[in-house]
Amino acid sequence: MWKIKITNEARNDFNRLDKGMKNQVLKGMYKVSQNPLPTPNGYGITSKCNERCVHCYIPHENKVSDIEPDLFYDILNQCKNMKLLHLTLSGGESMLHKKFCDFLQKMQRI
Ligand code: SF4
Repeated sequence: MWKIKITNEARNDFNRLDKGMKNQVLKGMYKVSQNPLPTPNGYGITSKCNERCVHCYIPHENKVSDIEPDLFYDILNQCKNMKLLHLTLSGGESMLHKKFCDFLQKMQRI
């Protein structure tokens, strides 16, 4: 359940609305609190890559690190708690992470 904090100023503004507008505001707040956030989100799980794109922003000598699985699962749980609908795994080349398939399976189950 989401908690919405209302300031005194906002409460005073709300109290000045007519009954129809109050109902519209309350319906909107309810709708926002019930629906998941559709915000797209991407996360680089590795800097490793077997390509050499000229536009790459990662120096090739720095393409050596992977995210620790525990950190990834923690991020995944946080995304779930925020009700995110969309998470993109990126890199580097995300499929070079040794746990890539495990990450996908976990994402499907969560
Ligand atoms: S990380 Fe992306 S942009 Fe960089 S070389 Fe690999 S595929 Fe190309």
